[in-house]
Amino acid sequence: MFIYGSNLGFLLLIPMIIFAMYAQSKVTRTFNKYLRVPNSRNLSGYETARKILDAHGLYDVPIEKVGGHLSDHYDPRTRTVRLSEAVYSGRSVASSSVGAHEVGHALQHAEGYVPLKLRSLLAPAAQFGSKYMIFLIFMGFIFNILQLIDLGILFFSLALLFQIVTLPVEFNASLRAIDNLHHMALVGQEDLAGSNAVLKAAAMTYVAAAAVSAAQLFRFILLRNARR
Ligand SMILES: [Zn+2]
Repeated sequence: MFIYGSNLGFLLLIPMIIFAMYAQSKVTRTFNKYLRVPNSRNLSGYETARKILDAHGLYDVPIEKVGGHLSDHYDPRTRTVRLSEAVYSGRSVASSSVGAHEVGHALQHAEGYVPLKLRSLLAPAAQFGSKYMIFLIFMGFIFNILQLIDLGILFFSLALLFQIVTLPVEFNASLRAIDNLHHMALVGQEDLAGSNAVLKAAAMTYVAAAAVSAAQLFRFILLRNARR
C-alpha cells in the first residue's frame, strides 16, 4: 500500500517537474532572445515603466534597481517597482515588457485588485508554511506521528493556495502590460509579438510551479493515507 501510494504520487510528480524545468528554460531562452531585439521606440525598461506609472497618476511609486537576473518584482509593502539591471537600463523588447509587467502590479495595488489583496494576505502563512512543511512531514513519517504529517500537509496546502492565487495576479499584470505597451505606443507594432512571447513564457513558470506543488501535495496525501 505504501509502495502503491508512493509510485502513483511519483508518476504524477515526474511530468510536472519536467514541465517546470521546460518552463524555466523557456523563460530564460525567450527573455534572452528579446533582450537582443531593440525596442523600436528606443525606450529603456525604466522609461517604459515610468511612463505607464505617470500616465496613471502613480508619480509617487519609485522604480529602483535590484541585483540579480530576472529578479524584477513589485513590492506591495513599500509600493516600489524593482527592476534588474538588464531590464532597468536595457532598450530591448524584453526590458520594456518586463518593466510594463511589474508596473501592472502597481496598477493592481492602486486599484485594490482583489486577487492581489488575497495574495498579500496569504503571503506570511505561505512563507511560514513552505519553510516548515517538509520538516514536519518528514518528522511525521520518521516517528510515525500522523498529527505532524497533517500539520505539514495543512501548511503545504496554504503554500499551494498562495501559488494558485498568484496565477490571476500574474496573468492580469501581463494583460495590463500588453494593453499599455500597445495603447501608449511604448513598443512598436512589430514588437508586440515579442512582448507577448516574453510575458507568456514568464506566466508559464508560475503555472508549472503550482502544478509541481499540487502533485507533491497529492503524493504526500497518498503516503499519509497509506500510513494510516
Ligand atoms: Zn508579476
